[in-house]
Amino acid sequence: MSRVYNFSAGPAVLPEDVLKEAAAEMLDYQGTGMSVMEMSHRSKAFQSIIDEAEKDLRELMEIPDNYKVLFLQGGASQQFAMIPMNLFKNKVGDYIITGQWAKKAWQEAKLYGKANAVASSADKTFSYIPDCSDLPIDEDADYVYICQNNTIYGTVYHELPNTKGKTLVADVSSCFLSEPIDVSKYGVVYGGVQKNVGPAGVVIVIIREDLITEDVLPGTPTMLRYKTHADAGSLYNTPPCYGIYICGKVFKWLKAKGGLTAMKEQNEKKAKLLYDFLDQSKLFKGTVEKKDRSLMNVPFVTGDEELDALFVKEAKAAGLENLKGHRTVGGMRASIYNAMPIEGVEKLVAFMKDFEEEHGK
Ligand SMILES: *Cc1c(COP(=O)(O)O)cnc(C)c1O
Repeated sequence: MSRVYNFSAGPAVLPEDVLKEAAAEMLDYQGTGMSVMEMSHRSKAFQSIIDEAEKDLRELMEIPDNYKVLFLQGGASQQFAMIPMNLFKNKVGDYIITGQWAKKAWQEAKLYGKANAVASSADKTFSYIPDCSDLPIDEDADYVYICQNNTIYGTVYHELPNTKGKTLVADVSSCFLSEPIDVSKYGVVYGGVQKNVGPAGVVIVIIREDLITEDVLPGTPTMLRYKTHADAGSLYNTPPCYGIYICGKVFKWLKAKGGLTAMKEQNEKKAKLLYDFLDQSKLFKGTVEKKDRSLMNVPFVTGDEELDALFVKEAKAAGLENLKGHRTVGGMRASIYNAMPIEGVEKLVAFMKDFEEEHGK
């Protein structure tokens, strides 16, 4: 068996310890004689798995008691609809457009009411986070929406927008559990777990209780109401059981590593290795404004498409996989999520140095 360093943006690298544990429990989960995949979601064993996952997540993120934690399906993209369907009262949402994911959420919201783009960084290919200190927030806005870490472009909000008292809703898919956040500043925090937390198929929604109401848009399907899932403890119907189980293991792994403060330190260390190299390189160049750089997704280019393609190919041959940039940006992107060991980033930087020596002008 040989494992590669996997820089995929998602689905992405998971902690090896977690995979090994899951493998060891595959045929017989803790004396039940069956795999978690084969188990009733109404069983005692599964109830403890989901309860413990929630408890550990609450501990890791210090989630206040007046927030619910929901384990749902449909990916992050389904939240693009669930948010307006459940939160629209005046049918107005203010969106900050910092990339494809924010844009998709904004476009989806337009199906249900008035969705304003109150700021955007589209003018410079989403290479920065706009100034959000004094936005033209709509008086009637039900919420202000952000995509906190922009997976494709490699930017992150280092400071949350001034929402002028409106509820903040954030897609944290690609920075979930990468560092501590103050949940109380948000109305809704949600993320698809396949970037930084677990296998595809689970989306975690952390939502303040007063936002969970029966007062949803007419026609909102039962399955798309937060209340349905909140009332049933995420067990209204069969949840993504195996995915929740793996997320639970990742939460335990994070706790054992020292929690989110320790994770942040480690992530800063890894990102610094890569950014410091990019900043002095004559061949490679980062593509986003320094002040808005993501700790998780690092896009870079050589400026020569053929050379970029050669880099991706040779890196793969060296055991550094999935470094090709998103199709809309080109170049390269290294996603260095929690589970990417620092050795992987060191190896990438060493490889980039060698490549530059060979191909630099
Ligand atoms: C990947 C991603 C999505 C889409 O996730 P799906 O689970 O595929 O719907 C949405 N937002 C962000 C920030 C992402 O990185």
